[in-house]
Amino acid sequence: MNNNLSKNSILLIEDEENIRSFILTALKNQSYRITTAGCGEEGLHLSASLCPDLILLDLGLPDLDGMEVIRKLRSWSAVPIIVISARTNEHEKARALDLGADDYITKPFGTVELLARIRTSLRHSRQMQDMASTEPRPYHCKDLTIHFENHVVTLRGENIHLTQIEYKLLTLLARNSGKVLTYTWLMEKIWGPYTDNNNQILRVNMANIRRKIEKNPATPEYVFTEIGIGYRMAEGD
Ligand code: CA
Repeated sequence: MNNNLSKNSILLIEDEENIRSFILTALKNQSYRITTAGCGEEGLHLSASLCPDLILLDLGLPDLDGMEVIRKLRSWSAVPIIVISARTNEHEKARALDLGADDYITKPFGTVELLARIRTSLRHSRQMQDMASTEPRPYHCKDLTIHFENHVVTLRGENIHLTQIEYKLLTLLARNSGKVLTYTWLMEKIWGPYTDNNNQILRVNMANIRRKIEKNPATPEYVFTEIGIGYRMAEGD
């Protein structure tokens, strides 16, 4: 493939040489143009000059905290950011997402997972750009279909009755399918910014949705729990 214009550009901000070379190898035969930065300041400069289509950001950088990099980027850019985290701390991941990161991947990770996260984030950012003008396509995955234009949800062709809140929650997840959405973000989107931060109401609604759409709510096929962080809906086809 020689058409450079069609290639998405990715900026990798990572100080560890071995992770950098692992990612470069993983992305080698994919149609991406990759640029690397070894620290936060350099990453911010390159973001501004290159306007990449996606940023892979390590949280533990030698100069700036990765959180600071997210905050600065989000003050002027909507570029998708995937956080690379060595930290198993869920609070940190949730904080990065709430600051505006789009997704995260935890070290050590494999090539397949990395490529899937990149594809999802790029697709999602394209959809966001299209959505302003056009009605989104229905969400479809396995037996589940959501017709956004007339608010109809079907499972194996049968209509599913959802309350307004349940519908809102499910469509938020479906429109962001493949992406993790934090409890805080979902709470704010549905109940507004001044809601208290008790997730109980969210969990109750999610349990109700699962009862209606999942064969076995304990091993869901459509909406997955990211423990301590939020929910991720299976990617639609
Ligand atoms: Ca690091």
